[in-house]
This record gives sequence, C-alpha cells and structure tokens, in this order.
Amino acid sequence: MINVAIDGPAGAGKSTIAKRVAKDLDYIYVDTGAMFRALGLFMTRKGIDLNDVAAIAANVDDAEIDIQYIEGVQCVILNGENVNDSIRTDEISDAASKVAVVPEVRKKMLILQRGIASRHDVIMDGRDIGSAVLPDADLKIYLTASVDVRAERRYKENISNGMNSDLDEIKREIRERDERDMNRKEAPLVKVDDAVEIDSSYMTIEEVVEKIEGMIRDIR
Ligand code: C5P
Repeated sequence: MINVAIDGPAGAGKSTIAKRVAKDLDYIYVDTGAMFRALGLFMTRKGIDLNDVAAIAANVDDAEIDIQYIEGVQCVILNGENVNDSIRTDEISDAASKVAVVPEVRKKMLILQRGIASRHDVIMDGRDIGSAVLPDADLKIYLTASVDVRAERRYKENISNGMNSDLDEIKREIRERDERDMNRKEAPLVKVDDAVEIDSSYMTIEEVVEKIEGMIRDIR
C-alpha cells in the first residue's frame, strides 16, 4: 500500500488538493478532520460541555464512527447517520478542535485511520498524520499558507456558498484554532523532519497538485 500524509493548519487547502490527487491517481482520500467533526457534532448534540475533558472521554464510546465511500465521496457515518451535511459549520469546526485535545478521542481515531490506511492506497489529511497516525508514510507533506491568505480563501468560499461572512471574524477563528491545534499536549500539529513543506500562499491549486503528484510518481 502507498500511504501519503498531508498535514497542515486549517484552510491551507489540504482537502481540495488531496481530493484532486486521490482522484487523479485512484487513491482513497481520507479526510480525518471530518471524523473529529462528527465527534464534535455528537458531543454538541448531547449538550456536553466541550471544555469538560472528562465528560467527553466518558461519552466517546457511545459514538460509533464509520467511513464509507459512496460514488467516490467520503461519507462520515455517525451512529448510522450520514452526517456529511451537518459538520461544515463554524460551530462544528470549533467543536472538532475542542474534542480533538482529548486523549481517548485521539486513540479511537488513530485505530480507525490506521485501519483504513492498511487496506488501501491513501492520501490522508489532518494534523497528526505524518507524526502519529502514519509515521512510516511513503510521503509526508506539510501544506501551509499565511493566516491572511487562509482567511481570505475561507471568506470567498463562504460568500460563494451564499453564506454571510466576516473576514476579521474568520481570521480570529483561524488563529484560535491554529493555537489550539499546535499547542495541545496530545498529537499537536507539527512539521515533522521528514515532511516536505509546501507554502501554498502564492500557488494555484493546480501548481500544488502537480507538485505533489510529481513527488508521488517519484516514490512509486
Ligand atoms: O481539517 P479540519 O478543519 O476539518 O479539522 C477540524 C479539527 O479537527 C481541527 O481543527 C483539529 O483540531 C482536529 N483534527 C485533529 N487531527 C486531525 C484532523 C483534525 O486534531 N488529524
């Protein structure tokens, strides 16, 4: 199996790029953030205080999370329900990064994610893929971009989806999430030594896709 890890901060373009590369090369794209989002949704629906680590840990086993691929699209199934359409809100982004600090949550996700990677050629994106989930990945990418560029992209995406959006608010949220993801104790976002760093601030999607596909061809 070929395993490619793509880590980086929120809004760097990981999922857009990983999806394209997976399609071109016929790999499975694994969006690990979606799994944390599903757990964030579960805890939110249950009314659990997202700053209460013990309460989250006590409830984690009640959430059964499964990944299915329906016509090539990754669907996150939470206790039998496809929650793809409920996990892309700002509230759930925030909830995901809060539940993600809890060791019991990370343990559960790690097992699920390693299982998928052992059965398929994958491009897996997240925060701790190269460092914790797939330390022996064949290729590790650290994809980043400046906070301003990442916020601008999210803003444009919201506007084009017909959503109200405030650029300063997005910047604040991105900074907060970076801070939490990079400074938590469990599996923080780091660029590992053997990862190739790509700063996408001034690159087009096509340029990044081509660069990564070139690197994958070199390892095959
Ligand atoms: O990538 P995405 O923005 O969907 O991830 C949502 C949140 O889930 C992140 O901010 C992060 O806190 C958490 N996450 C994580 N480890 C991963 C993927 C996501 O902690 N591998």
